[in-house]
Amino acid sequence: MKAKFFIRFLIGTVLLILFNFHIVCSEDHTARIPDDARPETRGYYTYCMSHRDYGIDIYELNEQAFISDLDVNEFQVEVKPSCNFSRRINDTDIRGVVIHYTNGSSQSAWSWWQNQYPGTSAHYIINRDGSIIQSVPEIYAAYHIGCYLNDEFCGNCPDKLCNNKGYFYDPEETTIAIELENAGPVFPDNGWYTDIFHNPIPDDADIFLYDGSDPLYHASQYYEAFSEIQLTVLEKLLADLEQRYGDLIILGHSDIHQVSVDPGPAFPKAKFFNYLSE
Ligand SMILES: [Zn+2]
Repeated sequence: MKAKFFIRFLIGTVLLILFNFHIVCSEDHTARIPDDARPETRGYYTYCMSHRDYGIDIYELNEQAFISDLDVNEFQVEVKPSCNFSRRINDTDIRGVVIHYTNGSSQSAWSWWQNQYPGTSAHYIINRDGSIIQSVPEIYAAYHIGCYLNDEFCGNCPDKLCNNKGYFYDPEETTIAIELENAGPVFPDNGWYTDIFHNPIPDDADIFLYDGSDPLYHASQYYEAFSEIQLTVLEKLLADLEQRYGDLIILGHSDIHQVSVDPGPAFPKAKFFNYLSE
């Protein structure tokens, strides 16, 4: 009896070790540098991986800035790295682009992404003036949707982005995130408009008057309009991504994530999106 018990105990222990090993191996996307990562991202990657648990020093992080994926002769782009990213399961399997708005200034967005770990991030922000900030290299997944591997939050996600042989697949793995610097809903205040944080929006911003037909956009009757140059640069950036990754599904955060409203009613969806949720 004793020998039998011991053998059972031994088998149990071995299974437990194997199970834990499996968890470590399957959950830890951070353990290795992707083989095909360009050397320029290695310092940044290593810095982020080794400082996530001990606090990130913004000065040191900025010293590790990676080289932008965009051609600097084509785009006015500046790198402001964030450590909020993970390895994609397949480094180059990009299938879609998710459009967001920042809900405030570009600077408050990227400085939040640099300061806050864990937190949110996006690959790109297109500023109101058409210049671009890149915060995460395309080879990594940014934290921009918030499905938490749960299709209850993201049930509308198209199969191409979220279905992996019948299982829900996190769309952050398969997408590029583009934020547009934009206040979203704005509120009349002393003759001008403020954003949801009560900060005035720029004097030269245009206001989009919303007709209130969709209850999703109940926050305000007024939204900041996207600037012309911003939309021109967005068009160019999408064309650049499609040239590099092939045809992509282009959609908004609100098309995937049930409680998100961005990029909102002021965004010209018909012009840009090739996927719209019902
Ligand atoms: Zn969003």
